[in-house]
Amino acid sequence: MRAIAVTPLVPESTRLVEIEKPHPGPGQVLVRTLAVGVCGTDMEIHLKATGVAPAGSDYLIIGHESIGRVEEVGREAKGLAPGDYVACPVRRPCADNCLNCSRGEADMCLTGTFTERGIKGQHGFLAEYYVEEPRWLVKVPPALKDVAVVLEPLSVVEKLVAQVFAVQGRLLFWEPRRAAVIGTGAIGMLAAALLRLRGLEVHAFARAAPGGARSRVLDAMGATYWSTADLPVASLARHLGPADIILEASGSAEAALAAFDAVGSNSVLCLIGNYSQDARQEVAIGQLFEMLKLHNRLVFGSVNGSGRHFEMGITHLAEMEQRWPDLLASLFTRRLPLDQFAQAFQRPPGEIKTVIQVAEG
Ligand code: BGC
Repeated sequence: MRAIAVTPLVPESTRLVEIEKPHPGPGQVLVRTLAVGVCGTDMEIHLKATGVAPAGSDYLIIGHESIGRVEEVGREAKGLAPGDYVACPVRRPCADNCLNCSRGEADMCLTGTFTERGIKGQHGFLAEYYVEEPRWLVKVPPALKDVAVVLEPLSVVEKLVAQVFAVQGRLLFWEPRRAAVIGTGAIGMLAAALLRLRGLEVHAFARAAPGGARSRVLDAMGATYWSTADLPVASLARHLGPADIILEASGSAEAALAAFDAVGSNSVLCLIGNYSQDARQEVAIGQLFEMLKLHNRLVFGSVNGSGRHFEMGITHLAEMEQRWPDLLASLFTRRLPLDQFAQAFQRPPGEIKTVIQVAEG
């Protein structure tokens, strides 16, 4: 079968490989991959060779955002049947099976020795087939099969939005009205849509001038697009009023820092971008900490999502489809066949989500 793989530690080694089709063990199912989304993490694996191959393999099959169809079921595999559509969470428990991993919440792993399919120590889904145990697969309603490839990035957003509302809602009187999302890639768009479903006024920030495909998608969900050339993040609070929630998804360390002071009193900033570890800026750090303290501001980071966040995502995808028909479809700015995977690493302006269409169905 065909798959897309990288050689770890070798930048730009991403290539099409011919490997043996996997056979499901007794407790596994064989999944026919239909589509795989490409994201910033894949770009880093491609450009900076950050992926880790499985033990004993000299290559890593990439791809961690997937939708597929069950084709074969091992004799001891329960709960799935051929024809079922499935998505697959990325993370697997750490070797120590820590407090969170042992409870199915590897997204909150304490040791950092977890593995991730397509990223760290386990092959991913950008192949014609993959095998997996049913406990790691999430069944997707057939009506959502054409949009469910975004379930994985949506699960990341579901987790952090649930955390924001759980923490703030439980601990204080909090009636959030205004949210800002920095970055208008797929994560930013999904975050904006999720916050609109919760009834918030949503402002999304990106570098490009307004009027493009991204601002049209935001218009359609009743959110507002701002170019940071017209309204820098640092001026957000002065022009729009302070935000109750800010999600920084652009990966710009500069924007993240500016956002520290754009969140209102008792409000929340969540960092989910991929930040360059080389980013440097001189900061009046005492003043920054004092402003955090004096306004009871909460700043936290969030990564990954578990099976339950995929389930939440399924509910919300259905709501989005009903409320804004065609909105999710408009996130897929390119669908490329498997043999044109290389184009996915050249990003045209206005791109939201590129998907590799591995098979029809
Ligand atoms: C994925 C997460 C993963 C993270 C770090 C993101 O692109 O969506 O599932 O945990 O990368 O590897």
